[in-house]
Amino acid sequence: MAKYTESKCRLCRREGAKLFLKGERCFKGSCAFEKRPVAPGQHGMARKKISEYGLQLREKQKCKRIYGVLEGQFRKYYEQADRMKGITGSNMLALLERRLDNVIYRMGVGSSRSQARQLVTHGHFTVNGKNVNIASYIVKAGDEIAVKENKKDNKYFAEIKQMKVGNMPAWLEFNPETLTGKVLSIPTREEIDVSIKEHMIVELYSK
Ligand code: SF4
Repeated sequence: MAKYTESKCRLCRREGAKLFLKGERCFKGSCAFEKRPVAPGQHGMARKKISEYGLQLREKQKCKRIYGVLEGQFRKYYEQADRMKGITGSNMLALLERRLDNVIYRMGVGSSRSQARQLVTHGHFTVNGKNVNIASYIVKAGDEIAVKENKKDNKYFAEIKQMKVGNMPAWLEFNPETLTGKVLSIPTREEIDVSIKEHMIVELYSK
C-alpha cells in the first residue's frame, strides 16, 4: 500500500496548519508546528503570493493529508461525491469520514488516523460480525463495529476498556467496556470537525 513517507510534522508545516497526525503529541508543547509554524526548507520563511489555483491545490493536499489518502483514491471520492445527491464537497467529506480507519479514530480507539489504520489492517475489528481489515471500507448508518473477541484481552484494548468516552461525534457511539460501537447516521457537514474549505477542492477538480 502506498503511503506518505515525509515526516508527518513537515506536512503540517507545509500546509500551515495543525493536521493532528501524531496522536497525543499534537496536543503537547512538543508539537513541531507550534514550535516552528513556517513551511519546511530553506525558503520556508519567504512570503509568497499564492494564486487562486495554488490555494485550491493546497486545500486539496491538506484534506488528503488529514485523512491519509493518496491522489488516485482521493479523486475517486470526489467523483463518487459528485454523482451523489446534495452538495459535492459535503458528500466528499462525509465519504472520507465514513472510512473505517477514520471511524475507529473518531471512536477514540486510535490516537491518530494512522494508528487507527494500522489497527484495522492488522485485523482487529468486525463490522456487523464480519472480519474487515480494509482501512478504506465505507461504513453505513446502522453498522455495528466491534473489536474481535480474541483480541479483546490484549494489552492495548485492555487499556481502551478503561477509557472514558470523550468528544464523540453525534453520528457515532462507542462503549469502551464492551469494545463495541455503532454508526448512528451518516455525518452531516456540521458534524465533521475538520477545517477544510471543501468548495475549493470541488472548484479545482471541476476545472
Ligand atoms: Fe502536526 Fe504538531 Fe501533530 Fe506534528 S505534532 S503532526 S506538527 S499537529
